[in-house]
Amino acid sequence: MKVKDWAKGPPNPPLCFPGFSMTYLDNNATTPLDPRVLEVMLPFLSEKFGNPSSPHAAGRATRDAVETARAQTATLVGARPEEIVFTGCGTESINTAIRGALAAQPGKRHIITSSTEHSAVKNSCEQLAREGCEVTWLCVDASGRPNMDEFHAALRDDTALVSVVWANNETGVIFPIEEMARIANERRIVFHADAVQAAGKIAMDLARVPVHLLSISAHKFHGPKGVGALFVRSGLGLPPLLLGGGQEHGRRSGTENVPGIVGMGRAAALAQAAIAGDMPRVAQLRDGFEHGVRARFPGVRFHGDTADRLPNTSNFALPDFAATDVLAALDRSGVCCSIGSACASGSPHASHVLRAMNVDDEEAKRSLRFSFSRMNTARDAEHALSALDGVARRLGGDD
Ligand code: PLP
Repeated sequence: MKVKDWAKGPPNPPLCFPGFSMTYLDNNATTPLDPRVLEVMLPFLSEKFGNPSSPHAAGRATRDAVETARAQTATLVGARPEEIVFTGCGTESINTAIRGALAAQPGKRHIITSSTEHSAVKNSCEQLAREGCEVTWLCVDASGRPNMDEFHAALRDDTALVSVVWANNETGVIFPIEEMARIANERRIVFHADAVQAAGKIAMDLARVPVHLLSISAHKFHGPKGVGALFVRSGLGLPPLLLGGGQEHGRRSGTENVPGIVGMGRAAALAQAAIAGDMPRVAQLRDGFEHGVRARFPGVRFHGDTADRLPNTSNFALPDFAATDVLAALDRSGVCCSIGSACASGSPHASHVLRAMNVDDEEAKRSLRFSFSRMNTARDAEHALSALDGVARRLGGDD
């Protein structure tokens, strides 16, 4: 089957690539590329190879495509095209935002973040603490929401930056970003939101939400890997992380990853439509799956605020079984899920996110994350449930 055939009308259900036979429920780690995204990328991997900085026809063709993608990406988050800087990934956007905000305010060395951040923010802040900055790590409650009293109390005249996750990658818990950004704005403090998981799953309107900086990544919403974007609000001076040829108006040097950027733009446009179109169905799938898990495992413990949560994410501890054993057994049954974040899956430590939510070490080590996408179907949820039945029988020694 040619790419064109997949793109014409996705096999319904499921929308996926020929030969893809797994039940993939690890979409917070990464999502499959939408075939319609691949289709728009392919010419930029072959005949449309010009450098967007070149002042000739080949360069103009790719420059126009980059600018179209910039407008599409801006629309996904409710920004203006000139506020979007393309980067190499979410991690680069985050590092640019955090390092840049500090470099722009040399007299201020205090950062506020939360204790449930992705390692891109967590490790950046830990490194800055080693370099002499002071970091306040906001606590969260048992449902994963930040303590707002602590947040108010943490704001200081020498606070350079607040950087918090919009939606948590392990639990899906959504932070009150609009409220937090308003509070930071009242104190004239720069606010960065890590929206890598939120973008494409929930509606976002930066015309209304007063964040100064926001990081997103294409591979989390059925775009390609190796391309991200940083929103920089108009008027904010942000020194670049990468110096060189001055691309992206001097905000991120390096010849643009044109196929990736074009793919990100198309993925953003599709994700924008899917927020209202597909996400309610994804939430139903996730909720039905959780219902099935609850019925099978009465002692199960779900983690995270169920009211303010991404529509696709489920995190829970099964009674009795170590998550590493369940993960491996599910993998053998063709079901992909994860233990905490993909980056931490090899770590022997219990998830810092769950530990911050007061989940004890032993329960945290029994915890699994299942994350759905619009490419999943009811069949995937059913397969995962029957695989869990089998795993419980095997690990429980019933057969
Ligand atoms: N922030 C969050 C919340 C994430 O979930 C991830 C990836 O898992 C990142 C940042 C890093 O994004 P990237 O993989 O594009 O570097």
